[in-house]
Amino acid sequence: MSHSIISANTDSTTGARSGAPVPSDSLASASTQRPENADVIIVGAGPSGSATAAYLAMAGLDVLLLEKAAFPREKVCGDGLTPRAVRELITLGIPTPAEDGWIKNHGLRIVGGGVRLELPWPDLASFPPYGLVRTRKDFDEILVRHAVKHGARLHESTNVTGPILDERTGAIVGVRARAMDPDGRDGGAPGLEFRAPLVVAADGNSSRLSMSMHRPKRDDRPMGVAVRTYYTSPRHDDDYLESWLELWSKGETGQKKLLPGYGWIFGVGDGTSNVGLGILNTSAAFGKVDYRDILKRWVDTLPPEWTFNEETMTSPVRGAALPMGFNRQPHYDLGLLLVGDAGGMVNPFNGEGIAYAMESGRLAAEVIAQAFARQTDAGREKVLQSYPRVMKDALGGYFTLGRGFAKMIGNPEVMRLAVKYGLPRTTMMKYLLKIMANLAEPHGGDAGDRLINALSKMAPAA
Ligand SMILES: Cc1cc2nc3c(=O)[nH]c(=O)nc-3n(C[C@H](O)[C@H](O)[C@H](O)COP(=O)(O)OP(=O)(O)OC[C@H]3O[C@@H](n4cnc5c(N)ncnc54)[C@H](O)[C@@H]3O)c2cc1C
Repeated sequence: MSHSIISANTDSTTGARSGAPVPSDSLASASTQRPENADVIIVGAGPSGSATAAYLAMAGLDVLLLEKAAFPREKVCGDGLTPRAVRELITLGIPTPAEDGWIKNHGLRIVGGGVRLELPWPDLASFPPYGLVRTRKDFDEILVRHAVKHGARLHESTNVTGPILDERTGAIVGVRARAMDPDGRDGGAPGLEFRAPLVVAADGNSSRLSMSMHRPKRDDRPMGVAVRTYYTSPRHDDDYLESWLELWSKGETGQKKLLPGYGWIFGVGDGTSNVGLGILNTSAAFGKVDYRDILKRWVDTLPPEWTFNEETMTSPVRGAALPMGFNRQPHYDLGLLLVGDAGGMVNPFNGEGIAYAMESGRLAAEVIAQAFARQTDAGREKVLQSYPRVMKDALGGYFTLGRGFAKMIGNPEVMRLAVKYGLPRTTMMKYLLKIMANLAEPHGGDAGDRLINALSKMAPAA
């Protein structure tokens, strides 16, 4: 690879920003054909894009963050943050006080096989002992404003339509985009051009940008589909995340019937609970069932005093995919680097994606900052080529274990036995919680932590 990663407006000695980018307000007219330059373009301002942008801006790089929606915007999600995600918020410098609407949780309540088991988050040096819940409408806006505060240039309502390629090398050197109407539609405004020697795809599960650079999803990795809605409920201030390993319906003849999938009930603290369910593609029911109908049949069996019903539903049932276990690779090539869902970084053990979106943003920014400090194209490219290895070292072995787990629980008989014999064993479940939420102490820790780390290291990187 020989394309230059030093952009026209970057000082090649210091890597710091210089030169004059086209002022962002010129976008308002959307009539300029002059490309706008940056050191790094990030496509998508979800948690992965905003975290990458914030860290890069802190490192002194000129960062352009392009987002097709306008904030605040909704994102279909369970809104649950484990201690792993909270650790990322703390590292990024985002305060989360209760008076600003952050609701803390102290652990995971697992329901199944007639058992309700409360497992507190482990008390560790490496992770805070609490999780949080925050609607993505708020959460994503808080993150993106943080990135802007640190110097990232954000263009909302800017839909990236495709890459600009270097004809000689085939590397991406920028993107084309269109300004969206205030109502989120393409109003036919003239096309926009943005140029940078490095582009980060943070555009989520479908990652059209990766697709256009010939990086399709791998189908040998687990994939989930999940749906969720909100109900006003007295359970809105629950201080435990609740996970249902078995979903039952009433059944027409009065007999209970086991439904496919796993459910959650997360108190949002604003008068509502986020209630949803997910199904893995390792399950025979994947793609063949009506997820909304399953959600309705399951909540119909829940205690009426929780008030999960049509009258208390405050938003439509919405769904989206959960790309797991690095289902899109390579994570860097030809000037395009992948973070978050674009790189398939959802944890196959528990469907958590926000922590990994932010973590990949942090690790990517470290690599990119080092790359921009190199003096030669070859040196910089060498650093960027290390990113896939950095991601594999951080999460590859663990995700491989998760793939095995996803395969195992796709078998209803294995799941039935696990719920029946595993759930009543509290010590075993404590270790399972550490594995499933990826909360083992990386250094030291107890025998369980060491076992989890050893297994993750021994497993081939995903
Ligand atoms: C129902 C459901 C429940 C979930 N629950 C949880 C949970 O409780 N906890 C958890 O940790 N994870 C959960 N996840 C996973 C989590 O939502 C994702 O892993 C996370 O959002 C990934 O962040 P991201 O920044 O990579 O992508 P996204 O959050 O998808 O952000 C991508 C951004 O890119 C923008 N974009 C896309 N295309 C373009 C384009 N062409 N031009 C410009 N911008 C573009 C989008 O508008 C969006 O803002 C859930 C997922 C689902 C579907």
